[in-house]
Amino acid sequence: RTSRPPRQTVSPSESHVSRPCISKLVSDRYSDVIVLSEMISYYDISGCYILRPWSYKIWELIQEWFNVQIRKLDVENAYFPLFVSQDRLEKEKDHVEGFAPEVAWVTKSGEDDLAAPIAIRPTSETIMYPAFSDWIRSHRDLPLKLNQWSNVVRWEFKDPTPFLRTREFLWQEGHTAHASFDDANVMVRKALDLYRRVYEELLAIPVVPGYKTEKEKFAGGHSTTTVEAYIPVSGRAIQGATSHHLGQNFGKMFDINYQDEKGETQTAWQTSWGLTTRTIGVMIMVHGDDTGLVLPPRVAPLQCVIVPITSKSCPIEKLAPYCGSILESLQEKDIRVKLDDRLIYNPGWKYAHWEQKGVPIRIEVGPRDLEKRGARLVVRFGGEKVDVGVDGLADAVAAKLDEVQKGMFENAVKFRNDHLVKVTEWKDFVPNLELHNLVLTPWCGGEHQDWEEWVKDKSREESLANAGLEGEADTTATSVAAKTLCIPFDQPDLPEGTKCIASGMPATCWVMWGRSY
Ligand code: AMP
Repeated sequence: RTSRPPRQTVSPSESHVSRPCISKLVSDRYSDVIVLSEMISYYDISGCYILRPWSYKIWELIQEWFNVQIRKLDVENAYFPLFVSQDRLEKEKDHVEGFAPEVAWVTKSGEDDLAAPIAIRPTSETIMYPAFSDWIRSHRDLPLKLNQWSNVVRWEFKDPTPFLRTREFLWQEGHTAHASFDDANVMVRKALDLYRRVYEELLAIPVVPGYKTEKEKFAGGHSTTTVEAYIPVSGRAIQGATSHHLGQNFGKMFDINYQDEKGETQTAWQTSWGLTTRTIGVMIMVHGDDTGLVLPPRVAPLQCVIVPITSKSCPIEKLAPYCGSILESLQEKDIRVKLDDRLIYNPGWKYAHWEQKGVPIRIEVGPRDLEKRGARLVVRFGGEKVDVGVDGLADAVAAKLDEVQKGMFENAVKFRNDHLVKVTEWKDFVPNLELHNLVLTPWCGGEHQDWEEWVKDKSREESLANAGLEGEADTTATSVAAKTLCIPFDQPDLPEGTKCIASGMPATCWVMWGRSY
């Protein structure tokens, strides 16, 4: 959420004009994959989707991990109401300006108009902070650290895409209050680091952590930190999750004041941070292939599936006890496993089914395996096949799952690194976008003029000209314009005298740009 003015909507006819640099696979294949793998069912309200068990379980696994981590930071879960009154929502001016175009309002109950419209939360700062004001009186009440798992509604103007950009989405939102700017800052960075770990350790996706520019920061906040991911298939970036330092802006608006040790009244410093079901979409985009999903083991609802290879001469009765013992040995190791002993489908059908759903390992068990007291492991990522003896099977599967998790991450890192390039002259900027690259450039900070807008306009213009589409309207979802993604925390050397790529003024940092979702 940013403090930018609302974007223009595009008419349906405009949105069907073909765009350069947008892989067909992205939109067409993505929709097929999420439906065929039974992650999503479509719904009759645009931008709203049904999360079926196969995707919801991934969200639960992320939740389980995240809850353990935030407890270590003394963050407690709580729940606040879905609705917010107009007065409260409008209390922080920049905040409401940033959100207003996307807020959904309830105006009726049954046939009757409500006395005053009530908003559905797009985020919960204005819902939670009046309670913070009641609860926080003394420095002894600080820090206050809460987290909420909930749904929010943002009536997006951009084209909706399941998981990535939806009008209702699930998320966690952390909200904390502290006695000092620095304490709040530590919290901001700890939350962001958990997001980095969700992406890197669970979803096997590398991210670039950094600051948002002033233009792209959270509406009403002091500063925004972000983790940015790269989607190979489209060469686009996506904002993975954000952690905001709210400064004292909300504290002042909502009177979140406390008496310090000297008895003086002070205003609390606050943070808010959110991770959404977008994570699942990013994971699908980064790892999916032509056959369907490829799930990283740590978030796979099922980490392996046992498929008995039955035939007339070897009916299920003959294989069942052996398969059952394999199932048990894996369950004992807490491996998420299922025995697919359905009789109505043949083994070939089952292979295709579980491949499409991205299960990391298939365990094939046929008459010869029974005879030799072994089984065959078939790995979804990379397609490796290995025969393993039954005694060490559970250990072999556990080791293979770790290896796959690592391999998927390394693969994604390599691909991302190959597409993250440094550019110091404007002439190389758009050609690199065309190569599906993210671009790091020297940057002046854009304080004197809106150079970000300049880059956006210029990159759009040059990209459309390259594709012979001069003057075409550009939809936001498939925009060929580049925007700033973040100012990475990890800054390359910036030699004295380096010039900003846009303004030509002395550069103060490197900034990362890209076409984005
Ligand atoms: P914000 O509160 O605006 O900082 O949003 C928190 C995070 O939510 C962002 O960093 C995005 O990763 C994600 N997000 C924003 N809008 C959507 C959306 N419409 N659907 C899914 N995720 C979203």
